[in-house]
Amino acid sequence: MNISIIGTGYVGLVTGTCLADFGLNVICVDQDKNKIDILNSGGIPIYEPNLEPLIEKNISAGRLTFTTDLKDTVRKSKVIFIAVGTPPNHDGSADISRVEQVAKEIAQHINEYKVIVNKCTVPVGTARQIKKIINKYQHKSVIPAKAGIHLSSPSPLRGEGGVRVKSSSVIAREQSDRSNPNLNRRTGVSPVYPIPFDVISNPEFLREGSAIYDFTHPDKIVIGYESEKAKKIMQEIYRPLYLLDAPFVFTTLETAEMIKYACNAFLATKITFINEIANLCDKVGANVHQVAKAMGMDGRINPKFLHPGPGFGGSCFPKDSRALKAMADNQNYDFKLIKAVIEANTRQRQIVVEKIEQCIGNLQDKTIAILGLAFKQNTDDIRESSAIDIIRMLLSKNCRIRCFDPMAMENTRKILPDLIYCQDEYETAQGSDALVILTEWNQFRNLDLLKIKKLMQKPIMLDLRNLYDPEKVKALGFQYSGIGRS
Ligand code: NAD
Repeated sequence: MNISIIGTGYVGLVTGTCLADFGLNVICVDQDKNKIDILNSGGIPIYEPNLEPLIEKNISAGRLTFTTDLKDTVRKSKVIFIAVGTPPNHDGSADISRVEQVAKEIAQHINEYKVIVNKCTVPVGTARQIKKIINKYQHKSVIPAKAGIHLSSPSPLRGEGGVRVKSSSVIAREQSDRSNPNLNRRTGVSPVYPIPFDVISNPEFLREGSAIYDFTHPDKIVIGYESEKAKKIMQEIYRPLYLLDAPFVFTTLETAEMIKYACNAFLATKITFINEIANLCDKVGANVHQVAKAMGMDGRINPKFLHPGPGFGGSCFPKDSRALKAMADNQNYDFKLIKAVIEANTRQRQIVVEKIEQCIGNLQDKTIAILGLAFKQNTDDIRESSAIDIIRMLLSKNCRIRCFDPMAMENTRKILPDLIYCQDEYETAQGSDALVILTEWNQFRNLDLLKIKKLMQKPIMLDLRNLYDPEKVKALGFQYSGIGRS
């Protein structure tokens, strides 16, 4: 079965590669020629652990290809996944224009029955909108091929003066060809419009940084569907996971779309809750780690996503929380909880900057060493990263920023070219007034703190991911501040 993935970003590239690894023939399409050129020349445009060798393996096996040619890809594929971005509009709602554009292009090139699978995070109703668009833009003015019109090697006729003239069948064919770009020249069969298709809503739950594991060991696979035929095709695609007992949730298109928002909003709420508890712990002298640990022992709560920090970021939680709020606003529903989460998460960045200010004093002309730019470890993604927001706030207070991140420096340099980018943690610490840890990269957990201390102007550490034991750091002569356990 030929599968295509439209949009070769964090989700599309992982989905395409993993499906190819399941043994399917996969074509990944992107409008960004640079991305496709990188992939076709053996590179990889994003950082995701273990993805590069898996891409190489499947390219070598002849199951994975990359192209910018959407038209040809649509025609060759039985199943088309849409994995383009759905960034926020100004009002916080999800901008689904890329999804709509892709739906339109699929409609223009559809030549036989296809299943269109939406993997993007989209407001409820988008799958139906995709259906509407494909129906609307399918090639309408088509003269279906008629019996008796011979499309192969028609014999040329001679007119007056030996001039070649076209037979009526050739003229009919040429007219049909012009009005119907999807005519199958080999069989001479013209598709009869409208061509049937099905739309599936199959939201993605992978996490950047562990995307391959998440895709191949999902907690759940959600499939919103309307036709049994499309459901069976999806079961066939995901058969390797079905065999591994991955739980499937078959539901309606609308419910599938809502499940994705509900999951992300709930996780964003959980992070925000523990951040709020941590802030209060700071005030009352309690230890948030012990609080979170004990909370997590309760089977109804679960220990995951109970790690305090500088506020959630990334390409999903912030935008999806705002999109959920916008969806509720559209329905005149006052979703109080999600509004509070968005507000508290914005405030968390300010609280962190105030903490830095409390430790260092006036920030004017201070040199701050920042460790971590990505929104979390194991990714180069800096979209809505709390580190980037906090750096901007520090810059507005006239600080100098020295920084280091194992993977996200290139992306950061594009938007903040004036920071001092360093080779490693130690160069970053050089001459600084404070060391601030903003991303929980494993390699930041075991720094040579005595070496760091010697390099710094003042031994102040703000450990905003709580990577270190406060007592041990203080014993080395640092002024230490974490979150919720100072
Ligand atoms: P991305 O920005 O990394 O990738 C999107 C890709 O689509 C880009 O390469 C872009 O060039 C391409 N594209 C845009 N319009 C196109 C078009 N008309 N034709 C062909 N290509 C086009 O986005 P992403 O992070 O992979 O997210 C994709 C979707 O998946 C979003 O809806 C997102 O919310 C959702 N999602 C993301 C994650 C994640 O961790 N990144 C997880 C789950 C769900």
